[in-house]
Amino acid sequence: MKLSAKGIMKAESALKVARLEMESATWEGEEILPSKHADGLAQLDNGRKIPPKGWKCERCDLTSNLWMNLTDGAILCGRRFFDGSGGNNHAVDHYKETKYPLAVKLGTITPDGQADVFSYAEDNMVKDPHLVKHLVRTSQDFMFIYYYNCSTTFKKIFC
Ligand SMILES: [Zn+2]
Repeated sequence: MKLSAKGIMKAESALKVARLEMESATWEGEEILPSKHADGLAQLDNGRKIPPKGWKCERCDLTSNLWMNLTDGAILCGRRFFDGSGGNNHAVDHYKETKYPLAVKLGTITPDGQADVFSYAEDNMVKDPHLVKHLVRTSQDFMFIYYYNCSTTFKKIFC
């Protein structure tokens, strides 16, 4: 059987839809996998100072739903939802401009060094196995003192 190019495209897009449906069906409880961008993530030594609290989006002053980019420490708001709530897309806009792939949701970091990490490059929630190191690098004198303050994870790496 010979398929036309159009037929192949149609079959591929049907497959894509089926796969997306399957993925969203299994989203609950699905294992979050390590990001392939976590190893060797570029982190800029740009002197950016990040306060331990009182965060706001650098572009629109929103104070909730904030994501910190792990490459440059930019703090920006999350995506706008279809109903108009949520953020103003500034974090994802920043990714489109810079291609810095990983951001951590502020307020989700736990003392044992876990947090909600989103990979724009992979368009998925991911694990960052080097999160504590990445936080310390981007945050310099900020968050690790606030959150880690010689917690177990911190001690293992730095104390
Ligand atoms: Zn914003």
